[in-house]
Amino acid sequence: MRRFTSSRAGGERSDDATSPVSVLPGDAAAMHSASSARGDTRPRRLATKIDQLTKEYVLKSETVRALRGVSFDVPEGDYVAIMGPSGSGKSTLLNLLGCLDKPTKGRLLLGDDDIGSMSDDELAEIRSRRIGFVFQSYNLIQQLTVVENIQVPLYYQGRMDAQQRQRSVDLAVRVGLGDRLDHRPAQLSGGQQQRVAIARSLVNDPYFILADEATGNLDSVTTEEILSLFDVLHEEGRTIIMVTHEDEVAARARRVVRLRDGMLHSDSLNDEARRQAVRQSQRQAAEAVSKNHGDT
Ligand code: ADP
Ligand code: MG
Repeated sequence: MRRFTSSRAGGERSDDATSPVSVLPGDAAAMHSASSARGDTRPRRLATKIDQLTKEYVLKSETVRALRGVSFDVPEGDYVAIMGPSGSGKSTLLNLLGCLDKPTKGRLLLGDDDIGSMSDDELAEIRSRRIGFVFQSYNLIQQLTVVENIQVPLYYQGRMDAQQRQRSVDLAVRVGLGDRLDHRPAQLSGGQQQRVAIARSLVNDPYFILADEATGNLDSVTTEEILSLFDVLHEEGRTIIMVTHEDEVAARARRVVRLRDGMLHSDSLNDEARRQAVRQSQRQAAEAVSKNHGDT
């Protein structure tokens, strides 16, 4: 069976799509301590290598240099927040990472695939097979159920069999929607819809999850729910790259890359102790709000 886990070198995880492991918020803390205890220091493969990446948009009267030689690597299993003021090149970088566009200059590797040398068809193939998109606006298909929405990337590949179908159900369960399998998006809350989108992003065993302001439409409690889910996915070894303009969201990532004027401005690790403290206090704040609202 094609394994659903990340291909992190020497990864000892044994969870596959059929594993009943729950990833409901709240499990993250327990899973985190387990993974810290393992002290994983082995070298990891790169999910992506961004090397002197340049993107220029040629307009009638001028050329806009949206990215001007940006370089950084993202090892498999990393959790990166990309920040920067408006116009700094975040969306441009995300579009390139998502194979929605091609660089003007520089090199972009996704796993071992060199994006610069690919045809549009090959890019489309990588995009649908190997990248898990999570958008601010969920981008679910309204006529389809939860499970059908999760299966959408598989349809595009003509890879639909009983096993794949089961995998979609398992993913729905893993993001906490086991009791909503046949609901349609309109019958779900924003947080639930975003969990469907996250399950959908995982169905193809992607190089990385590419999240564009994934919590931008959500209230603080639901934001916490989604960030807790990302925590768990990160603990499971998945690679997450997210664009956000919110400091509180970026504080949850392992690493923060800042762009400015199309260039890399800074690339820093969040202090691990502080990150855990932020995680705990944000979780507690969300729990307090939930209690006040009388919903659990
Ligand atoms: P951010 O997402 O950080 O706000 P963008 O990547 O959207 O930044 O934009 C970076 C720069 O590139 C901006 O100056 C923007 O106006 C320009 N830009 C973005 N997309 C295009 C496009 N399709 N055509 C021309 N200019 C663009
Ligand atoms: Mg943008």
